[in-house]
Amino acid sequence: MSSAPFDGNRRPAAITNEPIRSYAPGSPERAALKTRLAAMEKECPEIPLVIGGKEIRTGDIAKATSPHKHGHVTATWHKARTQDVQAAIKAAGEAQRDWSTWRWEDRAAILLKAAELLATTWRPTMAAATMLGQSKTAFQAEIDATCELIDFWRVNVAFAGELYAEQPLSSQGMWNQTDLRGLEGFVYAVTPFNFTAIGGNLPTAPALMGGTSIWKPAGSAILSAWYTMQLLMEAGLPPGVVNFVPGNAVTVSDAVLTHPNLGGIHFTGSTEVFQSMWKTVGNNIAGYKSYPRIVGETGGKDFIVAHASADTAALATAIVRGSFEYQGQKCSAASRVYVPKSIWPDVRDRVVAMIKEIRVGDVKDFRNFMGAVIDKKAFDRISAYLADGKANAKVLAGGGAKGDTGWFIEPTLIQTDDPSYRLMCEEIFGPVVTAYVYDDAKWHETLKIVDSTSPYALTGAVFARERKAIHEAHAALRNAAGNFYVNDKPTGAVVGQQPFGGARASGTNDKAGSKLNLLRWVNARTVKETFVPATEHHYPFMDAE
Ligand code: NAD
Repeated sequence: MSSAPFDGNRRPAAITNEPIRSYAPGSPERAALKTRLAAMEKECPEIPLVIGGKEIRTGDIAKATSPHKHGHVTATWHKARTQDVQAAIKAAGEAQRDWSTWRWEDRAAILLKAAELLATTWRPTMAAATMLGQSKTAFQAEIDATCELIDFWRVNVAFAGELYAEQPLSSQGMWNQTDLRGLEGFVYAVTPFNFTAIGGNLPTAPALMGGTSIWKPAGSAILSAWYTMQLLMEAGLPPGVVNFVPGNAVTVSDAVLTHPNLGGIHFTGSTEVFQSMWKTVGNNIAGYKSYPRIVGETGGKDFIVAHASADTAALATAIVRGSFEYQGQKCSAASRVYVPKSIWPDVRDRVVAMIKEIRVGDVKDFRNFMGAVIDKKAFDRISAYLADGKANAKVLAGGGAKGDTGWFIEPTLIQTDDPSYRLMCEEIFGPVVTAYVYDDAKWHETLKIVDSTSPYALTGAVFARERKAIHEAHAALRNAAGNFYVNDKPTGAVVGQQPFGGARASGTNDKAGSKLNLLRWVNARTVKETFVPATEHHYPFMDAE
Protein backbone atom coordinates (compact mmCIF):
# COMPACT_ATOMS: atom_id res chain seq x y z
CA MET A 1 0.00 0.00 0.00
CA SER A 2 2.97 2.35 0.08
CA SER A 3 2.29 3.65 -3.47
CA ALA A 4 -1.11 5.25 -2.99
CA PRO A 5 -3.46 5.32 -5.99
CA PHE A 6 -5.17 8.59 -5.01
CA ASP A 7 -4.03 12.08 -4.08
CA GLY A 8 -5.80 14.67 -1.96
CA ASN A 9 -7.23 14.71 1.50
CA ARG A 10 -10.48 12.85 0.92
CA ARG A 11 -13.40 13.62 3.20
CA PRO A 12 -15.87 11.02 4.44
CA ALA A 13 -19.60 11.77 4.81
CA ALA A 14 -20.55 14.34 7.44
CA ILE A 15 -21.00 12.78 10.84
CA THR A 16 -24.31 12.47 12.64
CA ASN A 17 -25.02 10.27 15.66
CA GLU A 18 -26.61 6.92 14.91
CA PRO A 19 -30.36 7.28 15.62
CA ILE A 20 -31.49 5.17 18.59
CA ARG A 21 -34.23 2.67 17.73
CA SER A 22 -37.11 2.24 20.15
CA TYR A 23 -37.69 -1.55 20.08
CA ALA A 24 -41.34 -0.76 20.78
CA PRO A 25 -43.88 -3.56 20.22
CA GLY A 26 -44.49 -4.06 16.50
CA SER A 27 -41.20 -2.46 15.41
CA PRO A 28 -39.03 -4.38 12.91
CA GLU A 29 -35.95 -4.03 15.15
CA ARG A 30 -37.79 -5.74 18.01
CA ALA A 31 -38.75 -8.68 15.81
CA ALA A 32 -35.20 -9.04 14.44
CA LEU A 33 -33.68 -8.86 17.93
CA LYS A 34 -36.07 -11.42 19.39
CA THR A 35 -35.30 -13.83 16.55
CA ARG A 36 -31.55 -13.40 17.06
CA LEU A 37 -31.86 -13.77 20.84
CA ALA A 38 -33.74 -17.03 20.50
CA ALA A 39 -31.15 -18.41 18.08
CA MET A 40 -28.15 -17.19 20.06
CA GLU A 41 -29.43 -18.76 23.24
CA LYS A 42 -29.11 -22.14 21.57
CA GLU A 43 -25.57 -21.44 20.35
CA CYS A 44 -22.47 -21.82 22.45
CA PRO A 45 -19.48 -20.67 20.40
CA GLU A 46 -16.00 -21.86 21.29
CA ILE A 47 -14.07 -18.62 21.16
CA PRO A 48 -10.43 -18.70 20.06
CA LEU A 49 -7.66 -16.13 20.30
CA VAL A 50 -6.97 -14.26 17.07
CA ILE A 51 -3.28 -13.55 16.55
CA GLY A 52 -1.98 -12.21 13.26
CA GLY A 53 -5.37 -13.05 11.75
CA LYS A 54 -5.12 -16.73 12.78
CA GLU A 55 -7.42 -18.43 15.26
CA ILE A 56 -5.51 -20.03 18.12
CA ARG A 57 -7.00 -22.64 20.46
CA THR A 58 -4.92 -23.08 23.59
CA GLY A 59 -6.96 -25.79 25.28
CA ASP A 60 -7.06 -23.80 28.51
CA ILE A 61 -10.81 -23.19 28.44
CA ALA A 62 -13.12 -20.98 30.51
CA LYS A 63 -16.92 -20.75 30.47
CA ALA A 64 -19.03 -17.61 30.08
CA THR A 65 -22.52 -17.55 31.57
CA SER A 66 -25.58 -15.29 31.45
CA PRO A 67 -25.71 -13.07 34.57
CA HIS A 68 -29.53 -13.35 34.73
CA LYS A 69 -29.45 -17.14 34.26
CA HIS A 70 -26.09 -18.23 35.57
CA GLY A 71 -26.68 -21.89 34.82
CA HIS A 72 -26.73 -21.04 31.12
CA VAL A 73 -23.36 -21.18 29.36
CA THR A 74 -23.26 -18.61 26.54
CA ALA A 75 -19.79 -19.49 25.25
CA THR A 76 -16.55 -21.23 26.06
CA TRP A 77 -13.31 -19.39 25.42
CA HIS A 78 -9.66 -20.19 25.15
CA LYS A 79 -7.29 -18.41 27.52
CA ALA A 80 -3.97 -17.04 26.33
CA ARG A 81 -0.72 -18.50 27.62
CA THR A 82 2.50 -16.51 27.88
CA GLN A 83 3.72 -17.86 24.51
CA ASP A 84 0.48 -16.69 22.86
CA VAL A 85 0.97 -13.19 24.22
CA GLN A 86 4.54 -13.20 22.88
CA ALA A 87 3.20 -14.32 19.48
CA ALA A 88 0.63 -11.52 19.55
CA ILE A 89 3.31 -8.92 20.27
CA LYS A 90 5.35 -10.26 17.35
CA ALA A 91 2.31 -10.21 15.05
CA ALA A 92 1.50 -6.64 16.07
CA GLY A 93 5.07 -5.57 15.28
CA GLU A 94 5.04 -7.25 11.88
CA ALA A 95 1.64 -5.81 10.93
CA GLN A 96 2.69 -2.35 12.02
CA ARG A 97 5.42 -2.05 9.38
CA ASP A 98 2.86 -2.20 6.57
CA TRP A 99 -0.18 -0.71 8.31
CA SER A 100 1.70 2.44 9.31
CA THR A 101 2.35 3.18 5.62
CA TRP A 102 -1.34 3.02 4.66
CA ARG A 103 -3.05 6.30 3.82
CA TRP A 104 -5.27 7.35 6.69
CA GLU A 105 -8.30 7.28 4.41
CA ASP A 106 -7.80 3.58 3.78
CA ARG A 107 -7.52 2.83 7.47
CA ALA A 108 -10.60 4.97 8.08
CA ALA A 109 -12.59 3.17 5.38
CA ILE A 110 -12.32 -0.06 7.37
CA LEU A 111 -13.84 1.53 10.46
CA LEU A 112 -16.53 3.26 8.42
CA LYS A 113 -17.41 -0.08 6.90
CA ALA A 114 -17.45 -1.66 10.38
CA ALA A 115 -19.84 1.08 11.52
CA GLU A 116 -22.09 0.45 8.53
CA LEU A 117 -22.13 -3.32 9.11
CA LEU A 118 -23.03 -2.71 12.74
CA ALA A 119 -25.83 -0.33 11.76
CA THR A 120 -27.29 -2.96 9.42
CA THR A 121 -26.62 -6.70 9.27
CA TRP A 122 -24.72 -7.00 12.55
CA ARG A 123 -27.11 -4.92 14.66
CA PRO A 124 -29.23 -7.76 16.11
CA THR A 125 -26.18 -9.96 16.77
CA MET A 126 -24.25 -7.33 18.73
CA ALA A 127 -27.31 -6.33 20.74
CA ALA A 128 -28.28 -9.94 21.49
CA ALA A 129 -24.72 -10.82 22.57
CA THR A 130 -24.66 -7.83 24.92
CA MET A 131 -28.05 -8.78 26.36
CA LEU A 132 -27.22 -12.45 26.94
CA GLY A 133 -23.62 -11.97 28.00
CA GLN A 134 -23.79 -8.75 30.02
CA SER A 135 -27.49 -8.65 31.00
CA LYS A 136 -28.37 -5.36 29.32
CA THR A 137 -31.97 -4.64 28.38
CA ALA A 138 -32.77 -4.18 24.68
CA PHE A 139 -32.60 -0.40 25.06
CA GLN A 140 -29.33 -0.42 27.04
CA ALA A 141 -27.81 -2.79 24.46
CA GLU A 142 -28.98 -0.51 21.63
CA ILE A 143 -27.39 2.62 23.10
CA ASP A 144 -24.14 0.80 23.91
CA ALA A 145 -23.32 -2.07 21.56
CA THR A 146 -24.94 -0.45 18.55
CA CYS A 147 -25.19 3.34 18.64
CA GLU A 148 -22.20 4.19 20.81
CA LEU A 149 -19.84 1.88 18.96
CA ILE A 150 -21.02 3.14 15.56
CA ASP A 151 -20.54 6.69 16.83
CA PHE A 152 -17.01 5.93 18.11
CA TRP A 153 -15.96 4.56 14.75
CA ARG A 154 -17.52 7.35 12.68
CA VAL A 155 -16.63 10.25 14.96
CA ASN A 156 -13.02 9.09 15.37
CA VAL A 157 -12.67 9.08 11.59
CA ALA A 158 -13.98 12.65 11.36
CA PHE A 159 -11.62 13.85 14.09
CA ALA A 160 -8.66 12.00 12.60
CA GLY A 161 -9.29 13.82 9.31
CA GLU A 162 -9.23 17.16 11.12
CA LEU A 163 -6.01 16.27 12.93
CA TYR A 164 -4.24 15.30 9.71
CA ALA A 165 -5.42 18.54 8.10
CA GLU A 166 -3.76 20.68 10.79
CA GLN A 167 -0.38 21.71 9.42
CA PRO A 168 2.24 24.24 10.54
CA LEU A 169 3.04 27.60 8.94
CA SER A 170 5.50 27.69 6.07
CA SER A 171 7.30 30.68 4.58
CA GLN A 172 8.58 31.32 1.05
CA GLY A 173 11.33 29.00 -0.02
CA MET A 174 10.48 26.18 2.34
CA TRP A 175 7.71 23.82 3.33
CA ASN A 176 6.97 22.67 6.91
CA GLN A 177 4.87 19.61 7.47
CA THR A 178 3.56 17.60 10.39
CA ASP A 179 3.61 13.86 9.96
CA LEU A 180 1.38 12.22 12.57
CA ARG A 181 3.00 8.81 12.88
CA GLY A 182 1.20 5.95 14.58
CA LEU A 183 2.99 4.78 17.71
CA GLU A 184 6.05 2.68 16.93
CA GLY A 185 5.24 0.10 19.58
CA PHE A 186 1.95 -1.73 20.11
CA VAL A 187 -0.89 -0.48 22.29
CA TYR A 188 -2.24 -2.73 25.05
CA ALA A 189 -6.03 -2.26 25.05
CA VAL A 190 -7.66 -3.62 28.22
CA THR A 191 -11.43 -3.35 28.29
CA PRO A 192 -14.13 -3.64 30.97
CA PHE A 193 -17.28 -5.77 31.04
CA ASN A 194 -19.77 -2.97 31.20
CA PHE A 195 -19.62 -1.40 27.72
CA THR A 196 -19.42 -3.35 24.49
CA ALA A 197 -18.66 -0.03 22.78
CA ILE A 198 -15.57 0.56 24.92
CA GLY A 199 -14.43 -2.94 23.97
CA GLY A 200 -14.65 -1.98 20.29
CA ASN A 201 -13.17 1.48 20.69
CA LEU A 202 -10.05 0.97 22.79
CA PRO A 203 -8.16 -1.31 20.38
CA THR A 204 -9.34 0.46 17.21
CA ALA A 205 -8.67 4.13 18.07
CA PRO A 206 -4.88 3.56 18.06
CA ALA A 207 -5.26 1.41 14.93
CA LEU A 208 -7.05 4.23 13.10
CA MET A 209 -4.04 6.44 13.83
CA GLY A 210 -1.64 3.92 12.26
CA GLY A 211 -0.73 1.75 15.24
CA THR A 212 -1.47 -1.84 16.20
CA SER A 213 -2.90 -3.32 19.36
CA ILE A 214 -3.16 -6.28 21.66
CA TRP A 215 -6.76 -6.42 22.90
CA LYS A 216 -7.51 -8.12 26.21
CA PRO A 217 -11.29 -8.04 26.66
CA ALA A 218 -12.96 -8.75 30.02
CA GLY A 219 -13.85 -12.44 30.33
CA SER A 220 -17.32 -11.40 31.51
CA ALA A 221 -17.96 -9.63 28.18
CA ILE A 222 -16.34 -12.25 25.98
CA LEU A 223 -19.38 -12.94 23.78
CA SER A 224 -19.86 -9.36 22.56
CA ALA A 225 -16.08 -8.90 22.30
CA TRP A 226 -15.80 -11.96 20.07
CA TYR A 227 -18.54 -10.71 17.74
CA THR A 228 -16.86 -7.29 17.65
CA MET A 229 -13.61 -8.95 16.57
CA GLN A 230 -15.39 -10.93 13.85
CA LEU A 231 -17.16 -7.80 12.62
CA LEU A 232 -13.82 -5.97 12.35
CA MET A 233 -12.36 -8.84 10.32
CA GLU A 234 -15.38 -8.79 8.01
CA ALA A 235 -14.86 -5.05 7.58
CA GLY A 236 -11.36 -5.80 6.25
CA LEU A 237 -9.06 -5.17 9.20
CA PRO A 238 -5.74 -6.71 8.14
CA PRO A 239 -4.19 -9.55 10.18
CA GLY A 240 -2.19 -8.43 13.20
CA VAL A 241 -3.55 -4.89 13.43
CA VAL A 242 -5.80 -5.87 16.35
CA ASN A 243 -4.83 -9.10 18.12
CA PHE A 244 -7.57 -10.65 20.23
CA VAL A 245 -5.98 -12.07 23.38
CA PRO A 246 -8.47 -12.92 26.12
CA GLY A 247 -7.01 -14.62 29.16
CA ASN A 248 -5.99 -14.35 32.75
CA ALA A 249 -5.31 -10.63 33.28
CA VAL A 250 -2.09 -11.18 35.19
CA THR A 251 -0.65 -13.70 32.69
CA VAL A 252 -1.37 -11.39 29.76
CA SER A 253 -0.27 -8.22 31.54
CA ASP A 254 2.98 -9.69 32.85
CA ALA A 255 4.10 -10.49 29.32
CA VAL A 256 2.84 -7.29 27.76
CA LEU A 257 3.79 -4.63 30.28
CA THR A 258 7.45 -5.55 30.47
CA HIS A 259 7.98 -5.79 26.70
CA PRO A 260 10.35 -3.19 25.19
CA ASN A 261 7.86 -2.52 22.34
CA LEU A 262 5.02 -1.40 24.61
CA GLY A 263 3.93 1.86 22.98
CA GLY A 264 0.86 2.62 25.07
CA ILE A 265 -1.92 1.43 27.33
CA HIS A 266 -5.57 2.11 26.51
CA PHE A 267 -7.43 1.05 29.61
CA THR A 268 -10.93 1.30 31.04
CA GLY A 269 -11.74 -0.42 34.28
CA SER A 270 -11.15 -0.05 37.98
CA THR A 271 -8.81 2.48 39.54
CA GLU A 272 -6.87 -0.19 41.42
CA VAL A 273 -5.98 -2.15 38.28
CA PHE A 274 -5.02 1.00 36.40
CA GLN A 275 -2.74 2.14 39.18
CA SER A 276 -1.04 -1.26 39.33
CA MET A 277 -0.39 -1.14 35.57
CA TRP A 278 1.06 2.36 35.84
CA LYS A 279 3.37 1.18 38.66
CA THR A 280 4.63 -1.72 36.53
CA VAL A 281 5.37 0.67 33.68
CA GLY A 282 7.17 3.00 36.10
CA ASN A 283 9.28 0.17 37.43
CA ASN A 284 10.27 -0.85 33.89
CA ILE A 285 10.66 2.61 32.42
CA ALA A 286 14.30 2.20 31.39
CA GLY A 287 13.48 -0.91 29.38
CA TYR A 288 11.08 0.52 26.76
CA LYS A 289 12.00 1.78 23.31
CA SER A 290 9.71 4.80 23.80
CA TYR A 291 7.84 6.26 26.76
CA PRO A 292 4.51 4.37 26.78
CA ARG A 293 1.44 6.56 26.47
CA ILE A 294 -0.80 5.74 29.41
CA VAL A 295 -4.50 6.42 28.98
CA GLY A 296 -6.96 5.14 31.57
CA GLU A 297 -10.57 5.85 32.46
CA THR A 298 -11.48 4.34 35.78
CA GLY A 299 -13.90 4.45 38.69
CA GLY A 300 -16.33 7.05 39.94
CA LYS A 301 -18.53 8.05 42.84
CA ASP A 302 -20.93 10.13 40.85
CA PHE A 303 -23.21 12.65 42.49
CA ILE A 304 -26.46 14.51 42.07
CA VAL A 305 -26.74 17.65 44.18
CA ALA A 306 -30.09 19.40 44.34
CA HIS A 307 -30.80 23.00 45.28
CA ALA A 308 -34.03 23.93 47.02
CA SER A 309 -35.26 25.40 43.72
CA ALA A 310 -34.97 22.01 41.92
CA ASP A 311 -37.88 20.54 39.96
CA THR A 312 -38.65 17.50 42.13
CA ALA A 313 -40.21 15.38 39.36
CA ALA A 314 -37.15 15.85 37.13
CA LEU A 315 -34.80 15.25 40.05
CA ALA A 316 -36.51 12.02 41.14
CA THR A 317 -36.51 10.69 37.56
CA ALA A 318 -32.81 11.51 37.19
CA ILE A 319 -32.04 9.68 40.46
CA VAL A 320 -33.92 6.58 39.29
CA ARG A 321 -32.61 6.47 35.74
CA GLY A 322 -29.12 7.66 36.69
CA SER A 323 -28.71 5.16 39.53
CA PHE A 324 -30.45 2.03 38.32
CA GLU A 325 -30.18 1.73 34.54
CA TYR A 326 -27.89 -1.16 33.69
CA GLN A 327 -28.10 -2.11 37.39
CA GLY A 328 -25.94 0.87 38.37
CA GLN A 329 -22.98 -0.69 36.56
CA LYS A 330 -22.10 2.40 34.56
CA CYS A 331 -18.98 4.24 35.64
CA SER A 332 -21.17 7.35 35.44
CA ALA A 333 -24.05 5.98 37.57
CA ALA A 334 -25.36 8.27 40.30
CA SER A 335 -24.58 6.77 43.68
CA ARG A 336 -24.69 9.68 46.14
CA VAL A 337 -27.33 12.37 46.21
CA TYR A 338 -27.65 15.53 48.26
CA VAL A 339 -31.16 16.92 48.72
CA PRO A 340 -32.34 19.88 50.86
CA LYS A 341 -34.77 19.19 53.68
CA SER A 342 -37.55 21.33 52.18
CA ILE A 343 -37.98 19.14 49.09
CA TRP A 344 -36.75 15.78 50.42
CA PRO A 345 -40.15 14.27 51.41
CA ASP A 346 -41.49 14.92 47.91
CA VAL A 347 -38.34 13.63 46.18
CA ARG A 348 -38.09 10.56 48.46
CA ASP A 349 -41.73 9.58 47.90
CA ARG A 350 -41.40 9.95 44.13
CA VAL A 351 -38.20 7.83 44.03
CA VAL A 352 -39.70 5.16 46.29
CA ALA A 353 -42.84 5.03 44.12
CA MET A 354 -40.79 4.62 40.95
CA ILE A 355 -38.60 1.92 42.53
CA LYS A 356 -41.76 -0.04 43.39
CA GLU A 357 -42.69 -0.01 39.70
CA ILE A 358 -39.30 -1.24 38.48
CA ARG A 359 -39.24 -4.81 37.22
CA VAL A 360 -36.01 -6.74 37.59
CA GLY A 361 -35.42 -10.00 35.74
CA ASP A 362 -34.35 -11.80 32.58
CA VAL A 363 -33.61 -9.16 29.92
CA LYS A 364 -35.35 -11.28 27.27
CA ASP A 365 -38.58 -10.15 28.91
CA PHE A 366 -38.73 -6.63 27.48
CA ARG A 367 -40.93 -5.39 30.33
CA ASN A 368 -37.95 -5.50 32.69
CA PHE A 369 -36.18 -2.21 33.41
CA MET A 370 -33.20 -3.99 34.99
CA GLY A 371 -31.36 -7.27 34.50
CA ALA A 372 -28.77 -8.91 36.77
CA VAL A 373 -25.38 -7.70 37.96
CA ILE A 374 -22.46 -9.16 36.11
CA ASP A 375 -21.24 -12.05 38.29
CA LYS A 376 -21.10 -13.62 41.73
CA LYS A 377 -18.19 -11.43 42.80
CA ALA A 378 -20.23 -8.30 42.04
CA PHE A 379 -23.32 -9.83 43.65
CA ASP A 380 -21.41 -10.59 46.86
CA ARG A 381 -19.75 -7.16 46.95
CA ILE A 382 -23.04 -5.29 46.47
CA SER A 383 -24.83 -7.56 48.95
CA ALA A 384 -22.21 -6.63 51.56
CA TYR A 385 -22.91 -2.94 50.94
CA LEU A 386 -26.64 -3.62 51.34
CA ALA A 387 -25.96 -5.33 54.68
CA ASP A 388 -23.90 -2.32 55.78
CA GLY A 389 -26.74 0.00 54.76
CA LYS A 390 -29.25 -2.03 56.78
CA ALA A 391 -26.98 -1.97 59.84
CA ASN A 392 -25.76 1.62 59.73
CA ALA A 393 -28.30 3.67 57.77
CA LYS A 394 -31.94 3.58 56.70
CA VAL A 395 -33.05 1.49 53.69
CA LEU A 396 -36.04 3.34 52.20
CA ALA A 397 -36.68 1.04 49.23
CA GLY A 398 -35.24 -2.18 47.85
CA GLY A 399 -32.36 -3.76 49.76
CA GLY A 400 -32.97 -7.31 48.56
CA ALA A 401 -30.62 -9.62 46.68
CA LYS A 402 -31.45 -12.99 45.17
CA GLY A 403 -28.79 -15.12 43.54
CA ASP A 404 -30.32 -18.58 43.04
CA THR A 405 -30.98 -18.38 39.30
CA GLY A 406 -29.42 -15.04 38.34
CA TRP A 407 -27.42 -12.31 40.13
CA PHE A 408 -30.37 -10.05 40.92
CA ILE A 409 -30.15 -7.02 43.20
CA GLU A 410 -33.14 -4.79 43.86
CA PRO A 411 -32.87 -1.09 43.08
CA THR A 412 -32.12 0.40 46.47
CA LEU A 413 -32.48 3.82 48.09
CA ILE A 414 -30.65 4.38 51.37
CA GLN A 415 -30.65 7.47 53.59
CA THR A 416 -27.78 8.46 55.87
CA ASP A 417 -27.21 11.31 58.32
CA ASP A 418 -23.47 11.12 57.86
CA PRO A 419 -22.09 12.64 54.63
CA SER A 420 -18.83 10.70 55.08
CA TYR A 421 -20.57 7.33 55.56
CA ARG A 422 -18.79 4.76 53.37
CA LEU A 423 -21.77 4.32 51.04
CA MET A 424 -21.38 8.05 50.23
CA CYS A 425 -17.65 7.63 49.45
CA GLU A 426 -16.88 4.24 47.91
CA GLU A 427 -17.67 3.05 44.39
CA ILE A 428 -20.29 0.28 44.77
CA PHE A 429 -20.95 -0.41 41.07
CA GLY A 430 -24.46 -1.68 41.63
CA PRO A 431 -28.05 -0.39 41.87
CA VAL A 432 -27.62 1.33 45.22
CA VAL A 433 -27.98 5.07 45.77
CA THR A 434 -27.47 6.80 49.10
CA ALA A 435 -29.03 10.14 50.00
CA TYR A 436 -27.83 12.75 52.45
CA VAL A 437 -30.41 15.37 53.44
CA TYR A 438 -29.00 18.81 54.25
CA ASP A 439 -30.40 21.98 55.83
CA ASP A 440 -31.52 24.35 53.08
CA ALA A 441 -29.36 27.07 54.63
CA LYS A 442 -26.23 24.94 54.17
CA TRP A 443 -26.13 24.97 50.35
CA HIS A 444 -22.57 26.32 50.15
CA GLU A 445 -21.24 23.95 52.82
CA THR A 446 -22.92 21.07 50.99
CA LEU A 447 -21.19 21.95 47.73
CA LYS A 448 -17.87 21.77 49.59
CA ILE A 449 -18.81 18.33 50.95
CA VAL A 450 -19.74 17.11 47.46
CA ASP A 451 -16.37 18.30 46.16
CA SER A 452 -14.28 16.72 48.90
CA THR A 453 -16.05 13.46 49.76
CA SER A 454 -14.51 11.04 47.27
CA PRO A 455 -11.16 10.71 45.47
CA TYR A 456 -13.00 10.40 42.14
CA ALA A 457 -14.14 13.10 39.74
CA LEU A 458 -16.01 11.37 36.93
CA THR A 459 -19.58 12.64 36.57
CA GLY A 460 -21.90 14.82 38.59
CA ALA A 461 -25.14 16.74 38.23
CA VAL A 462 -26.78 19.79 39.74
CA PHE A 463 -30.54 20.28 39.80
CA ALA A 464 -31.78 23.85 40.32
CA ARG A 465 -34.17 26.31 38.73
CA GLU A 466 -32.41 29.35 40.19
CA ARG A 467 -29.63 30.41 37.84
CA LYS A 468 -27.50 31.75 40.69
CA ALA A 469 -27.44 28.29 42.29
CA ILE A 470 -26.36 26.71 39.00
CA HIS A 471 -23.57 29.25 38.72
CA GLU A 472 -22.46 28.53 42.30
CA ALA A 473 -22.44 24.78 41.68
CA HIS A 474 -20.40 25.27 38.50
CA ALA A 475 -17.78 27.20 40.42
CA ALA A 476 -17.64 25.01 43.52
CA LEU A 477 -17.64 21.71 41.59
CA ARG A 478 -15.44 22.67 38.65
CA ASN A 479 -12.87 19.98 39.51
CA ALA A 480 -15.33 17.48 40.98
CA ALA A 481 -16.40 15.96 37.64
CA GLY A 482 -15.02 15.57 34.12
CA ASN A 483 -18.61 15.38 32.84
CA PHE A 484 -20.96 17.81 34.57
CA TYR A 485 -24.71 17.93 33.99
CA VAL A 486 -27.16 20.72 34.68
CA ASN A 487 -30.72 19.52 35.26
CA ASP A 488 -29.97 16.13 33.74
CA LYS A 489 -28.89 12.71 35.00
CA PRO A 490 -25.12 12.13 35.09
CA THR A 491 -25.21 9.11 32.73
CA GLY A 492 -25.77 8.65 29.01
CA ALA A 493 -22.92 10.65 27.43
CA VAL A 494 -23.20 10.60 23.63
CA VAL A 495 -20.01 10.30 21.56
CA GLY A 496 -19.21 13.57 19.82
CA GLN A 497 -21.70 15.48 21.99
CA GLN A 498 -20.43 14.99 25.55
CA PRO A 499 -16.82 13.74 25.26
CA PHE A 500 -16.40 11.43 28.23
CA GLY A 501 -13.78 11.15 30.95
CA GLY A 502 -13.03 12.08 34.53
CA ALA A 503 -10.24 13.66 36.49
CA ARG A 504 -8.59 13.05 39.89
CA ALA A 505 -8.62 9.27 40.64
CA SER A 506 -11.11 8.68 37.80
CA GLY A 507 -8.51 8.69 35.08
CA THR A 508 -6.30 10.61 32.70
CA ASN A 509 -9.33 12.33 31.17
CA ASP A 510 -8.32 11.80 27.56
CA LYS A 511 -11.98 11.86 26.52
CA ALA A 512 -12.77 8.75 24.46
CA GLY A 513 -14.20 9.60 21.04
CA SER A 514 -12.52 13.00 20.85
CA LYS A 515 -9.43 14.53 19.26
CA LEU A 516 -7.77 14.62 22.68
CA ASN A 517 -7.84 10.82 22.78
CA LEU A 518 -6.61 10.33 19.21
CA LEU A 519 -3.67 12.64 19.87
CA ARG A 520 -2.36 10.16 22.43
CA TRP A 521 -1.94 7.55 19.68
CA VAL A 522 0.28 9.58 17.39
CA ASN A 523 3.87 10.65 17.57
CA ALA A 524 4.30 13.86 15.60
CA ARG A 525 7.25 14.19 13.23
CA THR A 526 8.07 17.68 12.01
CA VAL A 527 9.52 17.93 8.54
CA LYS A 528 11.17 21.07 7.16
CA GLU A 529 12.14 21.10 3.50
CA THR A 530 14.23 23.94 2.11
CA PHE A 531 13.94 24.30 -1.66
CA VAL A 532 17.20 26.13 -2.32
CA PRO A 533 19.52 25.56 0.65
CA ALA A 534 22.23 28.06 1.64
CA THR A 535 25.70 27.36 0.25
CA GLU A 536 27.59 30.00 2.25
CA HIS A 537 27.98 30.05 6.04
CA HIS A 538 28.67 33.81 6.18
CA TYR A 539 25.87 36.18 7.47
CA PRO A 540 25.62 39.89 6.40
CA PHE A 541 26.05 41.14 9.98
CA MET A 542 29.57 39.75 9.87
CA ASP A 543 30.59 42.09 6.98
CA ALA A 544 33.14 44.85 7.68
CA GLU A 545 31.62 48.35 8.55
P1 NAD B 1 -11.77 -4.30 36.19
O1 NAD B 1 -10.70 -3.32 36.54
O2 NAD B 1 -12.01 -5.44 37.08
O3 NAD B 1 -11.43 -4.95 34.76
C1 NAD B 1 -11.15 -4.15 33.63
C2 NAD B 1 -10.20 -4.92 32.73
O4 NAD B 1 -8.95 -5.04 33.41
C3 NAD B 1 -10.67 -6.34 32.42
O5 NAD B 1 -10.31 -6.67 31.10
C4 NAD B 1 -9.89 -7.16 33.41
O6 NAD B 1 -9.69 -8.50 33.02
C5 NAD B 1 -8.57 -6.40 33.44
N1 NAD B 1 -7.76 -6.65 34.63
C6 NAD B 1 -8.17 -7.06 35.85
N2 NAD B 1 -7.10 -7.21 36.67
C7 NAD B 1 -6.02 -6.86 35.95
C8 NAD B 1 -4.63 -6.80 36.21
N3 NAD B 1 -4.14 -7.10 37.42
N4 NAD B 1 -3.80 -6.39 35.21
C9 NAD B 1 -4.29 -6.06 34.00
N5 NAD B 1 -5.60 -6.12 33.68
C10 NAD B 1 -6.44 -6.50 34.64
O7 NAD B 1 -13.09 -3.47 35.89
P2 NAD B 1 -14.53 -3.99 35.44
O8 NAD B 1 -15.17 -4.64 36.61
O9 NAD B 1 -14.47 -4.73 34.15
O10 NAD B 1 -15.24 -2.60 35.13
C11 NAD B 1 -15.76 -1.83 36.15
C12 NAD B 1 -14.85 -0.65 36.46
O11 NAD B 1 -14.60 0.07 35.28
C13 NAD B 1 -15.51 0.33 37.41
O12 NAD B 1 -14.57 0.77 38.35
C14 NAD B 1 -15.94 1.47 36.48
O13 NAD B 1 -16.07 2.70 37.12
C15 NAD B 1 -14.85 1.46 35.47
N6 NAD B 1 -15.27 2.06 34.22
C16 NAD B 1 -14.85 3.33 33.95
C17 NAD B 1 -15.25 3.97 32.77
C18 NAD B 1 -14.78 5.37 32.47
O14 NAD B 1 -14.93 5.81 31.34
N7 NAD B 1 -14.24 6.08 33.44
C19 NAD B 1 -16.06 3.29 31.86
C20 NAD B 1 -16.46 1.99 32.15
C21 NAD B 1 -16.05 1.38 33.33
